[in-house]
Amino acid sequence: LGATEKFKIGDYVNDLSKNEIGEIHSCEINEADFYVGSYAIGDRTRAFLKVQEACDYKCTFCTIPLARGISRSDTLNNVLKNAKDISDKGIKEIVLTGVNIGDFGKGEFGDKKHEHTFLDLVKALDRVEGIHRLRISSIEPNLLKNETIAFVSKSNSFVPHFHMPLQSGSDEILKQMKRRYLRGLYVDRVKKIKETMPHACIGVDVIVGFPGESNAQFLETYHFLNELDISYLHVFTYSERDNTPAALLADPVPQNIRKKRSKMLRALSIKKRRAFYEKQLGRTRTVLFEGENKGGYIYGFTENYVKVKCPWDPSLINTLHSVKLTEIDIDGLVRFEFVEQGITV
Ligand code: SF4
Repeated sequence: LGATEKFKIGDYVNDLSKNEIGEIHSCEINEADFYVGSYAIGDRTRAFLKVQEACDYKCTFCTIPLARGISRSDTLNNVLKNAKDISDKGIKEIVLTGVNIGDFGKGEFGDKKHEHTFLDLVKALDRVEGIHRLRISSIEPNLLKNETIAFVSKSNSFVPHFHMPLQSGSDEILKQMKRRYLRGLYVDRVKKIKETMPHACIGVDVIVGFPGESNAQFLETYHFLNELDISYLHVFTYSERDNTPAALLADPVPQNIRKKRSKMLRALSIKKRRAFYEKQLGRTRTVLFEGENKGGYIYGFTENYVKVKCPWDPSLINTLHSVKLTEIDIDGLVRFEFVEQGITV
């Protein structure tokens, strides 16, 4: 199904049951200009609230601009209504999602003007009663404004966790990728977050093996990330996608080198996460416990995204507790003591 037909998947599936052969239903991409608000409840503790769709950027490796149409958003009122519905269901954490959520606020049907900004959204959501935690899933560094960082640092419900795609620590590669920032801006964003929220968790997306990425440019990325005060990496190995400008670039990086670079950055991510967790030991944080029993343990995340574990206790599911982080276990997760035993919020 295409970008507009996917919203009628139920109808198509019903039709399909009458046929014996598969069908393709697709639209012209300029018809994908309307917005359908939605949310998904992951487990009993967290919901993913979609606030924005598609992207007007033109990163050379990305298929989204070809496949999803123009950037468009839910209305502020509808997002607030969905957030209230979610909190009425007893879900304690909402993760804001979208393809390029910093671009929130553009209207439907090709309206390229922002009716609201991402900061308007953040401020309005912070006022919704009954939401315990709000998490910004991923935001382009050039769209994460000082005002938003300042607001989150004082907010009741937005947690100190940011995930910002970097993709490369080499300015030449960033230009080839047609990203809308250079490494200096990224450094500045990390500094700003850490100035106002020293305990904030910062996650980073990075791509290895982009066409023409030399060994020196990869090492530039490696050292850049090693020196930056960030908490973990999501590493992606570049793969050629049909109809993208990057797929036509010269000097593809051999697959074995892509794999080696990916391995190096994954090892760096483990080191970064551990260093971040070590800095949190001895601190008191709030944990939201999740609903899964894995190997006799229950798991949860602090507001600043430290993953903790303790022996399985179903009464903890979907409760918030104040805990003191004590040590890092053999599997890299954090053990803790309850500060207020039995106190749930
Ligand atoms: S990588 Fe992200 S910002 Fe760039 S075009 Fe794709 S969706 Fe947009």
